[in-house]
Amino acid sequence: MSQQTGRIIKTYNGYYYVLGDNGTWYTCKVRGRLKQKRFVIAAGDRVELDAAGEEGMITEILPRRNLLQRPLVANVDWLAAVFACADPDPSFLLIDKLLALAEAANIPAVLVLNKADLAPEGFFDRLEAVYAPLGYPVLQVEAKNGKGLDALLEKISDSTVVFGGPSGVGKSTLLNHLNPELSLKTGQVSAKIGRGRHTTRFAELLPFQGGYIVDTPGFGNIDLAELVMDDAAQGFRELKARAGQCRFSGCTHTHEPDCAVKAAVAAGEIAASRYESYCMIRQELAAQKKRGQKS
Ligand code: GDP
Ligand code: ZN
Repeated sequence: MSQQTGRIIKTYNGYYYVLGDNGTWYTCKVRGRLKQKRFVIAAGDRVELDAAGEEGMITEILPRRNLLQRPLVANVDWLAAVFACADPDPSFLLIDKLLALAEAANIPAVLVLNKADLAPEGFFDRLEAVYAPLGYPVLQVEAKNGKGLDALLEKISDSTVVFGGPSGVGKSTLLNHLNPELSLKTGQVSAKIGRGRHTTRFAELLPFQGGYIVDTPGFGNIDLAELVMDDAAQGFRELKARAGQCRFSGCTHTHEPDCAVKAAVAAGEIAASRYESYCMIRQELAAQKKRGQKS
């Protein structure tokens, strides 16, 4: 028996498929002691295991940088938030929801605007003006014709990437163009760990550009119905940056006087669309909480 470290690439039916740092695949179970401490263990987690041959017992989950709840996946490097310039028209609220989800989970995000061929005049500039100053890379692509993909590849290679965005924006088209080898590499992993139609309940990592893309049940459909955050402000970088500058601690940036956030919106330092999204998400979270208390 030897002690190894590795990363969980896939979980299925109580088994964990771990790619050891030594390059060996291990089929693992979890040690009882770990089970007793109500643990969460996800694809993407780094773990310690006791290995015997190609079997292992996970003994420890190593500290993680982040954990996305739906899909359940740990240690994500990038959330690629994919939207279309048109057809379907993007909504600031949906964009901000997806970015907020990433931000609250401490996952860096890149905004990918697909269907550039359909973009209305000035569209890209308008979005870039809102998101680039916040530190979100904004990339314009045309998945259908394979345009603009190099900049995206450069950004996300060697990383663990979750793609998200509404259906119809071109995520599948984009992935097919990004890496035609994806299905081939997927096939290689499959042979080893038995990927099949019964295995889609959980997220798994697929080799991609030196890193992984996260494959999920409804691929790319990150669940925005239940935003997981205590406080909407956690999802907005520009609000976090102003934490503590309002007159009242615990300021909700809605009705309070001397609010640094409202002042920044009035001064044009925070985009009005972002502030509106914040207010909407706040209301949604409050409604969610109320529903939760009733049931
Ligand atoms: P998904 O639901 O996000 O996976 O979207 P799909 O990849 O299935 O694409 C939805 C539709 O958008 C398809 O009809 C694609 O051909 C189309 N599409 C994808 N990329 C582009 C693009 O760059 N420009 C245009 N005009 N259409 C695109
Ligand atoms: Zn405030």
